[in-house]
Amino acid sequence: MKLLINGDWVNSANEGELEKYNPSTAKLFGKFPAATKDDVNAAIDAAEESFESWYSKGSVERSKVIYKTKELIGKSRSELEQLLQQENGKTTIEARQETDGVLDQLQYYAEFARKITGEIVEGDTSLRKIFQYKVPYGVVVALTPWNFPAAMVARKLAPALMTGNSVVLKPSSDTPFTAEWIVRKFAEAGVPKGVLNFVTGKGSEIGDYIVEHKKVGLVTMTGSTSTGQRIMSHASSNMAKLILELGGKAPFMVWKDADLKNALRAFIWAKFWNTGQSCIAAERLYVQSEVYDKFIGMVSQALSKIRVGDPKTSDMGPLINKGALETTEKFVEDAKAKGYKLLTGGEKPNLSGEFTKGYFYKPTLFSGVEQKSEIFQEEVFGPVIGALPVEDEEELFNYANDSKYGLASYLFARDPNLIFKASERIRFGEVYVNMPGPESSQGYHTGFRLTGQAGEGSKFGIEEYLHLKNVYVDYSGKDLNIETVREDLIE
Ligand code: NAP
Repeated sequence: MKLLINGDWVNSANEGELEKYNPSTAKLFGKFPAATKDDVNAAIDAAEESFESWYSKGSVERSKVIYKTKELIGKSRSELEQLLQQENGKTTIEARQETDGVLDQLQYYAEFARKITGEIVEGDTSLRKIFQYKVPYGVVVALTPWNFPAAMVARKLAPALMTGNSVVLKPSSDTPFTAEWIVRKFAEAGVPKGVLNFVTGKGSEIGDYIVEHKKVGLVTMTGSTSTGQRIMSHASSNMAKLILELGGKAPFMVWKDADLKNALRAFIWAKFWNTGQSCIAAERLYVQSEVYDKFIGMVSQALSKIRVGDPKTSDMGPLINKGALETTEKFVEDAKAKGYKLLTGGEKPNLSGEFTKGYFYKPTLFSGVEQKSEIFQEEVFGPVIGALPVEDEEELFNYANDSKYGLASYLFARDPNLIFKASERIRFGEVYVNMPGPESSQGYHTGFRLTGQAGEGSKFGIEEYLHLKNVYVDYSGKDLNIETVREDLIE
């Protein structure tokens, strides 16, 4: 595996390497370069130098490269699906869905070729206008997470490049191979030399340096809130624009009149899709007390039947790495110690052969969890959840909003008054009513509170990559009459 710097695929300047393990088997998957500060400088310099010529191509020309990338990925999608399975541990369906998502995003953003608009505003006097139009920031740094290692890369590269920015991508050290595969497709599709650069390496070692580099105009990052906060403080040196898509703690709310079977379908998806490692994962289950026992019974029966193991043939794959497995186990131990009732799961599955050492964990449900507990306040990011009965609407809204995160939320109910009231009262960037996620390309994916700032997707998301510029023009042809400049000074 190589870095892409100024159009060349190269090793890191000091030949340093890092290791990546297959989460299903805990065996070495491959080695990848640990980029140095010199590599980062070279990548950012190349991005800056190539920016003007890329921008001046115009959006229609740029869109052709995105369409071509989509075509190339579509043709060899089985390679990407295999990589997603081996590097990340996605099930067969999840790998297919993520690949569909990549293609959808490339299509969606390429379609903006003829849709980027500005405004012309009347000036303060006649025959004066203010042209407000949108221009790229220049060098964009894209930092991506491991949980959707292909989709998150596509969701950043496509809008950044479409709007005429040049990019330096640094993917998660847990999924560098998937990111490299996608970058190679962009390069093959004709992204000019220097416009897209790719560096790998530990965020803790080169991240601060990339973020505070004086040539960087925008940093787009999807990841944890703690990393987002660090990025925010380091970006104070260059005042880079920030797009930060951070942690989540979605409440999954089931009202007494809900269609419980649909609620169950959506809940299983919302909690256990991607082994619970999704920013929009259900992380707290609130059920109205009249249907609490019934619904919790339905859930725990269903969870005990979820097949965990080989991602090729199971319903749920492994956690991403040993650390994530240990965090999951810690949440379970803590919940047990607090005396919450374990209804199902709570242990690793018994697997054989090459999967014995994989980072697998059973779907786990606790009942009677307290609102202030760690499992209800901190992001679990694994297949473990607690449930709590609620009595009335006020209690439901108060519990749901009692979180430092504010990304996704789910509500299953029939009463239209409750649905509309909840949609307004629930302070989350996404409220899914009687349906599962994930977000659509045409939706604006954004969160309140510590979930970050700005957003991705929709016209609002693409506009995040554009700076609104104002050009004031006087086309009256008249002499200027400026009160503070004496006319007798003008010869
Ligand atoms: P993470 O550890 O914060 O890492 C995210 C990215 O930032 C990685 O590329 C990481 O590189 C890099 N990074 C680490 N330290 C850095 C620094 N000091 N400066 C610059 N970059 C740095 O997050 P993750 O574990 O990969 O992802 C899981 C988190 O992402 C969860 O909290 C989840 O909720 C969130 N997420 C949010 C959304 C959303 O749309 N809101 C979507 C998906 C995931 P290394 O891997 O080399 O450390």
